[in-house]
Amino acid sequence: MIKIIRIEESIFQENEKIADQVRNILRGNNILGINVMGAPGSGKTSFIERTIDVLKDEFKFGVIEGDVEGKVDSEKFLKFNISVIQINTGGGCHLDANMVKKAVSEIDLEQIEILFIENVGNLICPAEFDIGTEKNIVISSITEGDDKIEKYPLIFKVSDLCILNKIDLVPYLDFDFGKFENDLKNISSGSKLIKLSSKTGENFNIWIEYLKGLKREKK
Ligand code: MG
Ligand code: ZN
Repeated sequence: MIKIIRIEESIFQENEKIADQVRNILRGNNILGINVMGAPGSGKTSFIERTIDVLKDEFKFGVIEGDVEGKVDSEKFLKFNISVIQINTGGGCHLDANMVKKAVSEIDLEQIEILFIENVGNLICPAEFDIGTEKNIVISSITEGDDKIEKYPLIFKVSDLCILNKIDLVPYLDFDFGKFENDLKNISSGSKLIKLSSKTGENFNIWIEYLKGLKREKK
């Protein structure tokens, strides 16, 4: 007799349960948790950095950094004198709720109003694991090409907001904004799109206002 165990389902079920626990912990402490996903090099860290820099006098921030190895991204937040926890997955290509729960247990939650969780750079499986955040953001930069939604629809579908980054590079690239916008509408009509540059700050205020709105909503 062969017994088949459905590993996949049980993994996701277990993850869902822990993600709900994380969400309750964050909500209980009045913390807005934001999962920042995107490919390596899409600009996740610099996006979070600029956001904190703009709003550091208005909100108390915390950052959880998810990487396979190292702490180069975490070190970029030291200048803000905020709580930063580095998760090294040791090869794992996404964060799961259990990792985030452990990281959250290491932070002084009373010192945080907005918690950014930078997921491992990857457009595939981070989309499949709820990590207990209030909102999911996917960052795609125009250097990656305009076909990312078509090729990796799930991550755009599960995200509440898509940031299209590096628009300052538009003169050097053939990026079809119409195609990108249409693809996003087709897979998720409710998903919002903000085109900006974390480097020059172009349109960054639109994101800042959106984030402030989210925080107000939560209170
Ligand atoms: Mg990074
Ligand atoms: Zn993975």
